[in-house]
Amino acid sequence: MSTVLVPGGAGYIGSHTVVELAKAGYDVVIVDNFYNSKPEVLNRLEKITGRRFPFYEIDCCDKEKLRTVFEENKIDAIIHFAGLKAVGESVSIPLTYYRNNLTSLINTVELAGEYKADKFVFSSSATVYGMSEDVPFTEESPLGMCTNPYGWTKWMIEQILRDYSVSNPDMKICLLRYFNPVGAHESGLIGEDPRGIPNNLFPYISKVAGGTLEKLTVFGDDYDTPDGTCIRDYIHVTDLGSGHVKAIEYLDSHDEKVCVFNLGTGRGTSVKEAVAAFEKACGHEINHVIGPRRPGDIAVSYAATDKAFKELGFKAQYDIDDMCSSCWKWQTMNPDGLPG
Ligand code: NAD
Ligand code: UDP
Repeated sequence: MSTVLVPGGAGYIGSHTVVELAKAGYDVVIVDNFYNSKPEVLNRLEKITGRRFPFYEIDCCDKEKLRTVFEENKIDAIIHFAGLKAVGESVSIPLTYYRNNLTSLINTVELAGEYKADKFVFSSSATVYGMSEDVPFTEESPLGMCTNPYGWTKWMIEQILRDYSVSNPDMKICLLRYFNPVGAHESGLIGEDPRGIPNNLFPYISKVAGGTLEKLTVFGDDYDTPDGTCIRDYIHVTDLGSGHVKAIEYLDSHDEKVCVFNLGTGRGTSVKEAVAAFEKACGHEINHVIGPRRPGDIAVSYAATDKAFKELGFKAQYDIDDMCSSCWKWQTMNPDGLPG
């Protein structure tokens, strides 16, 4: 069975993807610098899968250290998650975001080429569709007009990978554009564990539901949507994990040099609907107030899912209630996140 290297595999989406890879029978090697994750996640992964995966605490920006991973393991494919992802922070420290996200990616793909690990999956984002409101977004929708440095790193990396694929005849690349990943593993052992006060909706609601934060501010209820609040395509992180397994299988069986897929459910949920679904899952009201719009937010974003369904065989299995109940289980089992 082939071996998949997962840089950023201790993080939120990476750890759930590792579980799905293990379930599908892959060998996995994890690299992470724990910038936004904790070593405890490796124990949790062992509890869930019954396997202890080879792990390297390495910053992917250090190419020579990263090389040791390729020297010591025969890597067949790579799923690259190792990047910084906080939109607001990327506005305050843009150079850190460009340096980390681009250098980490360039080093990893360069070593992939050198060591003939010629299947490469990249964590892109619906943010590359920018400020367009021409929904649903298809893989052919225009890109650009990103609203922050984080989004531009995704846009730039997609271009870097396209350019690199031209220069390396053996390399096959899959760009996965995630919509809004939420939820947690059914065991409640792994989930989203943000540093400090969360910026994203679901971790914030979870903390309000758990009593750690006092109230949620809904960012605007004057959008041109049925209830006035923004609509997003939330996708369960376990579905996302299995989408990555499909991507590896696709690269194994197709000759396309670069393929692109949206990973979403194709269904939109408003902020108010998300709050109501979470209230149902946790069994009590979520204290919330309506505040002003957040700069850079678009009214509606959801995925066209036909291409991923037809070509990748991917279809999300979980709905918004599953996403909320798994989030709530994770929150109640780990009110302060993972120890460490
Ligand atoms: P995360 O922060 O939980 O995981 C990223 C992991 O990468 C962390 O464990 C972090 O410590 C590690 N990391 C960062 N820089 C590194 C480096 N230079 N070397 C080694 N490890 C490094 O984030 P996530 O939500 O799991 O996201 C994973 C990827 O998916 C990111 O690239 C993110 O931009 C992308 N993405 C996330 C979302 C989302 O909403 N969560 C949406 C679209 C795309
Ligand atoms: N949101 C909100 N209050 C919060 C956080 C988010 O109303 O405290 C809204 C935000 O305006 C957006 C949606 O929830 O419409 C999802 O935001 P998130 O930051 O989770 O993801 P994004 O779609 O911005 O990547």
